[in-house]
Amino acid sequence: MPELPEAETIARELATALTGRVLNRPIVVRADVVHGDVRLVTTYDTPSRRDLTIGRPRNDGAPGRVIDVGRRGKRVIVQMEHGARITFALGMTGSVTIEEAGAECAAHTHLRIPIGDGEREVRFCDPRRFGGVWISNGREPDTGRRLRPLGPEPLDVTASEFRRIMRRRRQVKALLMDQQALAGMGNIYCDESLHRAGIHPRTPASELTDGRVAALRRAIRSVLRSAIRFNGSTIMDYRTPGGREGSFQLRHRVYQREGLPCRTCRTPIERITAAGRSTHFCPRCQPPAPN
Ligand SMILES: [Zn+2]
Repeated sequence: MPELPEAETIARELATALTGRVLNRPIVVRADVVHGDVRLVTTYDTPSRRDLTIGRPRNDGAPGRVIDVGRRGKRVIVQMEHGARITFALGMTGSVTIEEAGAECAAHTHLRIPIGDGEREVRFCDPRRFGGVWISNGREPDTGRRLRPLGPEPLDVTASEFRRIMRRRRQVKALLMDQQALAGMGNIYCDESLHRAGIHPRTPASELTDGRVAALRRAIRSVLRSAIRFNGSTIMDYRTPGGREGSFQLRHRVYQREGLPCRTCRTPIERITAAGRSTHFCPRCQPPAPN
C-alpha cells in the first residue's frame, strides 16, 4: 500500500490541481527523505535544513510551472517546465496531499511545496519512510537510494511481453510483486488478480499454460482498471490528495477476507504466506498446481 490504482488516483487529482500552476521553493522538513540533483539543491549553513529550487538548473530561485502530473509504477511524477521532475515514491505509507498553508502539519510531513501565491501547498507525508521524494533535472536518470529501474506497466504490457515475463520459474505472486518485472502491483492487487484468474499464488510462473497467462493478464487489467475507477483501496490511511477515501476495498474478493465466503463459490478464504507476504486466496477457485 499504496499500489498502482492509488498512485494513479493521486496523480490524476494532482494533475487537476497543479497543471499550469507554479511551485515555489519547497520547505524540506526532513532532509534524508528528499533526494535531489545537486545542481537543483542549495545547502544552507544549518545542515538539517536545505533549500531547494525546482525547475531551474541555475538555482535563481524563480518558481517553476507544472506542465503535467503522471504515474510510473507506484510513483507519482510531477513534470515541471525546464524539464525538472519531482518523483514521489509512496513506499508503504507515503501520501501526497494539498492543504491550506496555515493548516496544521500532520506528523511525519517531510516536504512542503507552496503553490502559486502560497495559500495552499503540496505536502509529502510518510510515517514509515520507505518512500521518498526525488528531484531531478530530468536529463539524468533518476538513480539513487531506492529509486530503482522499473519493469513495464501492467496496463500497457503486451501479451507477448507478459508471456516472456511469466517464463521464469519463480512463484507467480513473487514475480508479480517484483517491480523490476512488472511495475505497480503490490499485495492487494496481486491477490485480487490471481483469484480472478483462478491461479494459486505459489504456482511457479513457468508452469502456467499460455491460456492461463493470458487469463492472468486480463484479470490484472480488469482489477486495476476497476480499482482506479473506485479511487483505489483505503485499508489503513490512504487518502487522495483532497482527503477522500478510496472504495475498491468494498469490492475485494479475497484480500483481508480470511474465513469469509468466497464471492464466487462460498468456500472460506484462506490466508498463507507467499512471496514473504500475507496472501489471501480461495482454495477451491485457486487450486494448487499438481506436482
Ligand atoms: Zn472460490
